[in-house]
Amino acid sequence: MAYSYACKDCEGMEACPGKFVAETQDEVWKLMALHAAVAHGVDASTFDEDMTAYLKGLIKAV
Ligand SMILES: [Zn+2]
Repeated sequence: MAYSYACKDCEGMEACPGKFVAETQDEVWKLMALHAAVAHGVDASTFDEDMTAYLKGLIKAV
């Protein structure tokens, strides 16, 4: 089992090619946070509960 996240699945990020696959959702989340900071200049620690839930909902089991 693995988990993946494609940044283009996030509303407003359709043009982003960022995509991550890892063994655990927790690892994917950390990669997403790193990607948000490096590629989008966004600090994931500032996401509110709704944003966090929305983004975690985009992580798919593959
Ligand atoms: Zn992205």
